[in-house]
Amino acid sequence: MKIYFHEITLSTHKKFELIDITYEVEKAVEKSGIRNGICLVFAPHATAAIIANEHEDGLINDMITKVKEFTQPERSWKHNLIDDNAHAHIGSALFGAERIFPVRDGRLVRGTWQNIFLVEMDGPRYRRRVLVEVLGE
Ligand code: ZN
Repeated sequence: MKIYFHEITLSTHKKFELIDITYEVEKAVEKSGIRNGICLVFAPHATAAIIANEHEDGLINDMITKVKEFTQPERSWKHNLIDDNAHAHIGSALFGAERIFPVRDGRLVRGTWQNIFLVEMDGPRYRRRVLVEVLGE
């Protein structure tokens, strides 16, 4: 079995933001040379998440609206006494900081309406990382 690592680094510009990383992930799969296996997409952050869904501007806005409603950034969370981002930790824990995709015939398998996004919930951040690990042969 072969293992290939790639690290994506990016900056975020808003408190809440969805950043499409599909191109970078697919490039990594292509560069790995792996034909069949799986691709892990993992954000090593406690205040961000990884999701797969449609890249449509209205829907991206809807997602952010729902993420805010769900995580309640205005609520007086206890963690906010030391670090004003409890909502982002809760979002990261519940939405998940990783997604796994199949790799078949050298290509990442995803639905037509499944682009891959980093979900920023505690931006802006100068440096966010996303690790792409491709395993297979
Ligand atoms: Zn915190």
